[in-house]
Amino acid sequence: MRKAYVARQREALGRKSVAVLPVHYPKEILTAMDVLAVELWGPPGSPRGPEAGRLQTYVCAVVRNALAFMAGGHADVVDAALFPHTCDSVQGLATLVTDFGGWSKPSFVFQHPKGPTRASARKFLIAELRALAAWLGTLTGRPLDVEALRRAIRLHRAIDETKARVLARRERLPLSDRELYEALRRGEWLWPEEHLDELRELEGKLALDAPPRAGVPLMVTGYVPEPMALLDALDDAGAYVVRDDWAAVGRRVVVPRCAPDLDGDPFEALATLYYEAPECPTRSLDQEARTRRLLSLYDESGARGVIVHEPKFCEPEAFDVPAIKRAFAERGAPLLYLETELETELSGQTTTRLEAFVEMVGARRAA
Ligand code: SF4
Repeated sequence: MRKAYVARQREALGRKSVAVLPVHYPKEILTAMDVLAVELWGPPGSPRGPEAGRLQTYVCAVVRNALAFMAGGHADVVDAALFPHTCDSVQGLATLVTDFGGWSKPSFVFQHPKGPTRASARKFLIAELRALAAWLGTLTGRPLDVEALRRAIRLHRAIDETKARVLARRERLPLSDRELYEALRRGEWLWPEEHLDELRELEGKLALDAPPRAGVPLMVTGYVPEPMALLDALDDAGAYVVRDDWAAVGRRVVVPRCAPDLDGDPFEALATLYYEAPECPTRSLDQEARTRRLLSLYDESGARGVIVHEPKFCEPEAFDVPAIKRAFAERGAPLLYLETELETELSGQTTTRLEAFVEMVGARRAA
């Protein structure tokens, strides 16, 4: 479906497209330059080619699968690839796809800074944002129009604000978690204006007068809601996700404390938004701020337990796990640590663990 969509965008609108590896990148710049972003979270399932074997088995499946996918020609419909500096594995992939995968299309590594806001880091970030715009200018043959960037920032602000409202009131949506996440994740490849239309339609389905959804409300923090069967398993066990901090979904919704100045330099506005984004171990190393945010999400959401859901061998996410476990243990909140493969189905063992956790949380709630 994505391939056909990308091809249609090219044929009907002359729009170029870029495969984007996880997690954080300034999509506003791509939109402003009329470039479609198509995110590549693996994809899930068995690697689509033997090149995954070129990486050690202790490298995460997101990167192993992406290497096999690109090397196998499955991403050839796009015009280029963008590698944010998420972790050493994605950084390494940027060269491996060329060296081992035969990838010959243009590539760019977006080196976003890690750590707290400092004048030097902000200056570095703005230089990286400008470099990305220049690279896209070479790809499209058109320089960046600053006014188009301002419009794109406003469009993505509207997307995030709508997403935030939908996510905050998700208990009033007449949809299963799988249906909700499938709709939200279409933003990984749809043209942003179309995605905003769909989100507004979703928001229109909110039944604010209806009673909240029945079941055990849980919070999830983790990387990406894959396998999506996890959502079905929670549903079947009588639980639902009331708040999420998945890097691919809730953690990328930016609601700044004060609105950036959209009439001034748009690169400054993008830098402000970058530092206003929720704490993520792929961008910041402040575990205290991360756990503080998670506890506050937990408290305000009414969740009765938390699932820490990570892909195997994900170093950035794994660094924070002990601090998260400690913080929730001190709060007396039930926590399930779940490490999953990037598969399309959930193992029987994982399903059983989820069922047992939901049962335990439900019993505590009833007591
Ligand atoms: S899953 Fe973790 S290690 Fe793998 S690409 Fe993502 S951040 Fe990097």
